[in-house]
Amino acid sequence: MVLTTHALTGAVIGKNLTNLPLIILLSLAIHFTMDSFRHGEYFDSRIAKIKDTWWKIALDLSIGFFIIISFIYFKKPIPQETERIFLGSFFSLLPDLLTLMYWTFKENIALAKVKTFHAFAHRYSRFPKYSPERQWTWRNARNDILISLFTIFILFLL
Ligand SMILES: [Zn+2]
Repeated sequence: MVLTTHALTGAVIGKNLTNLPLIILLSLAIHFTMDSFRHGEYFDSRIAKIKDTWWKIALDLSIGFFIIISFIYFKKPIPQETERIFLGSFFSLLPDLLTLMYWTFKENIALAKVKTFHAFAHRYSRFPKYSPERQWTWRNARNDILISLFTIFILFLL
């Protein structure tokens, strides 16, 4: 799923829970669970190069954090809640950040293990490369859009 969806989900977890280890565990577990839903990717990790992809990643991250920072600006949560929101979003993004690091440090065994588990969670990546389930289309963005809208609703209105 896109980074915006992961960051927002983590923010919702951090906003609604006070137990820090639970926020971390749930953020990680939900990351891999959501990755098992049908979704497209804006790059193919096997052929994409950081130099062509970084701006998409930066844009994606910026959108997520723009929404989270807007929430903090407008809703003014207490500092502890703000910290938990950032904790949740950080750990919700962590699997993707580690997998991105694997692009650069391919010989690192720990990163390779995260990447293998990550690939396992992506059920749809077992579909052939050019199958419709894996393309960057509106149909495959549906889960990202619905989850993001849902998290924005919870963040701002509940
Ligand atoms: Zn992921």
